[in-house]
Amino acid sequence: SAKMGNATQKAELGRSTWKLLHTMTAQYPEHPTTEERKALQQFFMLLSRLYPCGECAAHFQLLLKRYPPQTSSKIAASQWACAIHNKVNERLGKDIFDCSNIQEKYDCGCNTTEDENDSSSSSE
Ligand code: FAD
Repeated sequence: SAKMGNATQKAELGRSTWKLLHTMTAQYPEHPTTEERKALQQFFMLLSRLYPCGECAAHFQLLLKRYPPQTSSKIAASQWACAIHNKVNERLGKDIFDCSNIQEKYDCGCNTTEDENDSSSSSE
C-alpha cells in the first residue's frame, strides 16, 4: 500500500500538488473579490493542515506564517506560489525555479472566472 513515508510516493504527491497550486493561481482573478481572496487564503491554510505528509505539512505551516499567502491579484498569487515552492526547493537542495514565465507555464486554458476581458461570452 502507499505509505507516505515512501520517498517515491511523497515526490509524486508533491509534483501533483504543486501542479494544482500553480495552475490554480495562474487562473486566479486579476481583480479578486473579498470572498475570492478569503477563499484562496483559507485554501492554503487548510492545505497546510490536511496535506497527507506530516513533515511537509509542518514545514509548510511555518512557511505560511513567515510568508503569508498573497491574494490581491493573479500576479501576486502566482509569484507568491512560485516563491514558496522555491523555499521548499531550497530546503530540499533543489534548483531555484525562474518565476518570470510562470503565467505561461501553468496556463491550462480552462479559465472559468468572469474576471477576464472576454467575460461577456462566459455564459456561452
Ligand atoms: P517539484 O518540486 O515537485 O516540482 C514539479 C515541477 O514544477 C518541476 O519539475 C518544475 O517544472 C516546476 N517547478 C519547480 N519549482 C517551481 C517553482 N518554484 N514554481 C513553479 N514551478 C516550479 N518533500 C519533502 O521531501 N519534504 C518536505 O518537507 C516537503 N514539503 C512539501 C510541501 C508542499 C506544500 C508540497 C506541495 C510538497 C512538498 N514536498 C516535500 C515535495 C517536494 O516539494 C517535491 O514535490 C518532490 O520532492 C518532487 O520534486 P520534483 O523535483 O519532482 O519537483
